Amino acid sequence: MLEKVIIVKYGEIGLKGKNRYFFENTLIANIKKKLKDYDIKILKTHGRIYVENVDENIDSIIPLLQEVFGIVALSIGVKAPLDLEIGGQVAIDLMKEVVHDQVKTFKVETRRSNKGFPYKSPEISSEIGGMILENLDNLKVDVHNPEIVVTVEVRDLIYIYVVSIPGIGGMPYKTASKAVLLLSGGIDSPVAGYLMARRGVEIEAVHFHSFPFTSERAQEKVIELARRMAKYTGHIRIHSINILEIQTETNQKCPLPQSTILSRRFMMRLAEKVAKEIGARSLITGESIGQVASQTMESLAVTNATVQMPVFRPLIAMDKIDIIKIAQSIDTFETSILPYEDCCTVFLPEKVVTRPELADIEASEALVDVYALVEKAFATREIIGVKYEGTVWRQEK
Ligand code: ATP
Ligand code: MG
Repeated sequence: MLEKVIIVKYGEIGLKGKNRYFFENTLIANIKKKLKDYDIKILKTHGRIYVENVDENIDSIIPLLQEVFGIVALSIGVKAPLDLEIGGQVAIDLMKEVVHDQVKTFKVETRRSNKGFPYKSPEISSEIGGMILENLDNLKVDVHNPEIVVTVEVRDLIYIYVVSIPGIGGMPYKTASKAVLLLSGGIDSPVAGYLMARRGVEIEAVHFHSFPFTSERAQEKVIELARRMAKYTGHIRIHSINILEIQTETNQKCPLPQSTILSRRFMMRLAEKVAKEIGARSLITGESIGQVASQTMESLAVTNATVQMPVFRPLIAMDKIDIIKIAQSIDTFETSILPYEDCCTVFLPEKVVTRPELADIEASEALVDVYALVEKAFATREIIGVKYEGTVWRQEK
């Protein structure tokens, strides 16, 4: 039996000039972490990553690799000795697995990095192509628009593969600095975090609660959401902060219809404070224009005005229905719709401002001690770490 190998293809990161090694090495480290329970070997050459020693576990390894950001496609290949006859036979066998009545065209593409091999790439392609034509009926070669591409790589051995399995795409996790995700218990914020993580941004979450008005179960829900995100990010830390005093104080002293916007502004200040402490460079929210009163353009502007850091809102132009599709595909949706109280709904006033003016909001904030409230809330912070396997740890600050 010839040995199998997984060929990992990555797109954009091949283009990054001098940074390319950093991106590739991060991707390899992430693959190793993901496959830590398997005794695999990883080889990097010519803009490809090869995962070897996979024969026993290939069916469980492929889905895991499909959760690694930065992988555009995967192929399962076979390693044959440096012999054109054997290589051709392997190609025929692989083609037999994928060809069916509707498939009419194919081509063989050869990359020969082993210059000691006595045949040149076009000769190898035509030789193996010829063998395929002799052994399979009703096939034609189409070099411009083939339905199936047989790839032959001649290195220390001949690597041959036919099908390509889609990867998750994006950029390797942790190649793009760190950001603080404002993670509520809702549908949107886990999706926002996932989309940014998929571009390589390292995520730490901050969650605001109003314990004892919000329950222990509401916090467990957020931990569960972070755990599900950790399938893609490895592990996640949540900074959990009690904003009850901020809410009661502003509710007493400021106009009630402003309460949501006021607590949003405090959330942003606190999130930025966390971000500065942990060396994060931006904030991420799950806001989407027009979705609720606190997400009109005016409200977003007023909320944004509290912080200096860039605030990324990857869902800003997305419809709820599309956000839900992503939430379902990353398996956070079912958790997000569990019906536990959120800190914003606990104190939701009957009337809310939808087009706040910054001057009015600042005038209201002058009625409370913003600095002291932020410091006191920050002091309630608990840090909780979560792994996908379910490990949860609480950390001293
Ligand atoms: P989500 O589904 O993420 O809860 P939403 O549609 O309910 O979003 P809002 O409640 O207005 O919208 O919140 C907008 C954004 O503000 C959230 O996506 C999240 O980033 C942040 N946010 C809201 N509440 C909290 C909270 N309790 N803790 C942390 N972030 C929050
Ligand atoms: Mg919410």
